[in-house]
Amino acid sequence: MNAVLPFIDGRETGTSLVFSVIRQTSPVPRIDIAKATGLSPATVTSVTADLIAKGLIQEVRATSASITMKRGRPRINLKIRGDAHLVAGMKLSDKLTTVVIVDFDGKRVADYSGSSITPIRSASRTVEFLEQTLIAALDSAGLVMADISGIGIGIAGFVDAPAGHVHWSPNITERDVPLQQMLRDKFKIPAFLDNDANLVAIAEQRFGLGKKARNFIVVTVEQGVGMGIVIDGKIYRGMHGRGAELGHTKVHLDGALCRCGQRGCLEAYVGDYALLREANTATDLVAGTSTELQMEVLLEAAKNGDGMATSIIRRAGRMFAMGLANVVNIFAPELIILSGERMQYDFLYDDWMIEEMKKSIVQAGGKSTEVKVHKWGDQMWAMGAAAFAIDGIAEIELTEPRSNAA
Ligand SMILES: [Zn+2]
Repeated sequence: MNAVLPFIDGRETGTSLVFSVIRQTSPVPRIDIAKATGLSPATVTSVTADLIAKGLIQEVRATSASITMKRGRPRINLKIRGDAHLVAGMKLSDKLTTVVIVDFDGKRVADYSGSSITPIRSASRTVEFLEQTLIAALDSAGLVMADISGIGIGIAGFVDAPAGHVHWSPNITERDVPLQQMLRDKFKIPAFLDNDANLVAIAEQRFGLGKKARNFIVVTVEQGVGMGIVIDGKIYRGMHGRGAELGHTKVHLDGALCRCGQRGCLEAYVGDYALLREANTATDLVAGTSTELQMEVLLEAAKNGDGMATSIIRRAGRMFAMGLANVVNIFAPELIILSGERMQYDFLYDDWMIEEMKKSIVQAGGKSTEVKVHKWGDQMWAMGAAAFAIDGIAEIELTEPRSNAA
């Protein structure tokens, strides 16, 4: 495979290969597609003609900055045809439900924030909730359901993305839910489901700090500790999507009780509920404060130098550093991106935490893993969900016979 192109995924047929290259390097001339894919110029011409006929890509004249004159003729580039489809990306969380509507080229058309998914509800109620939220989001943008071609959804928990199956989620009462099929039955359009941390990794790869890295890891901290692993440009999910559960790696033998039922998990020391459990046990700092505000009160107290609050936060930071060092020792990624809404508080991502992490990394000389902090909000997650839906729609389109969509 050509080294110029970092990310080639999906079924690597000539068509999907060409489409991947256009999506990742758009706008791009045919000759560069041939170089990147190793396909002959004649094959590239034929495949791109098919993609144009399907309405998925379009020709554009090179801009003056990138123009290359060849015998006086300006180069023609190819790009994804944004108008081909609109898709929705949704991110469910305890606090807000975020929706973005993007075109087929990933350009954001609208965004919307709806109410929280909590309290935890049944799978069928979750589907109803998603439908109401999506309709409200579309309505706010002057759109209706028929205007979108697909929907991507990020949800916390163990999600088997290829099967569209939720083994367990803190947001749904039942286990083993065929949520993707339920969504497709309800919405009558393709729906794609993934673990929310994987969607952040996809968003970082497409739009964020992971654009240039082949091997990187995204760590998210909010209700729990999530991880998205990108190896050789592809998301690594593990068997049935059960991999990358950094939050449930053990940092303490017989340690604190975790939501998963086991003891000593990283999340049981770093998650909101873990910090609040400590705060409620040891102090009356957050007593009398509404549940939603307790974290803010605790973090504010730590910032203002409260000894007990500082001790709680510091311990969480040291545990987090240990968890990250374990990740670096196993994967040695080029880059770790710390991403998530908790970023606004900075408490886990201070320089001291990163120094603490470095102390636990095997010292082998040479280049070390770079750690970057990315302060994107929930929209980043929803953008990842939308990018995932674009991939899904593209895969459907690329495997279908030529339509008259153009
Ligand atoms: Zn656990």
